[in-house]
Amino acid sequence: MKAESVVQSRLLDLANVDAELNRIKHRRKTLPEMLEVERLEADRIASRDSAVLIEINLEDLARDIRKLEGEVEAVALREKRNNDRMQAGGIPSKQLSELEHEVTSLLRRRGNLEDELLEVMERREAVVADHEHAGAQVDAIDENLIDARRHRDDAVADLDTAEERCKAQRVGLLGDLPEDLLALYEKERARTGIGAALLQARRCGACRIELDRAEMERIALAKPDEVIRCEQCGAVLVRTKESGLK
Ligand SMILES: [Zn+2]
Repeated sequence: MKAESVVQSRLLDLANVDAELNRIKHRRKTLPEMLEVERLEADRIASRDSAVLIEINLEDLARDIRKLEGEVEAVALREKRNNDRMQAGGIPSKQLSELEHEVTSLLRRRGNLEDELLEVMERREAVVADHEHAGAQVDAIDENLIDARRHRDDAVADLDTAEERCKAQRVGLLGDLPEDLLALYEKERARTGIGAALLQARRCGACRIELDRAEMERIALAKPDEVIRCEQCGAVLVRTKESGLK
């Protein structure tokens, strides 16, 4: 295959544009701004989950408190009834001593219940603080997410712009390339990812393998319009002054 060296160097321009398009594609998948958004979203889910667990804990504690308050109230009511009966008088002494005995044990029981109630209320206070902390954490993450998403969108927009510019350049270059050379380029590009490369300091710019002396001699003898291929990777090897040819 033959192509003027100026045409061959245009193929190199195309290869550079395609390499840039590949870099953009790779960058899209590995954008640090995108990874940051994903990290924050995962953090948010974890914080929200722990807030939900705390809410369940709070509901349990509220139920325990209601139950204890009900029990305290029931004991107090019974105490009052006994006291009222004792104050009304006219109770036989045996029954009176039974009533007094019961009031004493009711007082003790109420004291225990009230201690327990206090303990549960203190525990709830601590859990309420935990809940507030978890809520503040979710809020902080939400705020960071607003910034992170904006940074990601900006980075994606930059990539879109760069990609559009490369695609426009590509269209401009295609018009100047002969069909057979372009077909060879696209075939190699589909096969290995790189269709053409510069022969630079005896090295193939595509596979980076150094050409041996015999290969270099063969290339040195080839006419400038001869289309040379790398024997290792198949890419079109474009020669320039930097190629290391004598
Ligand atoms: Zn090669």
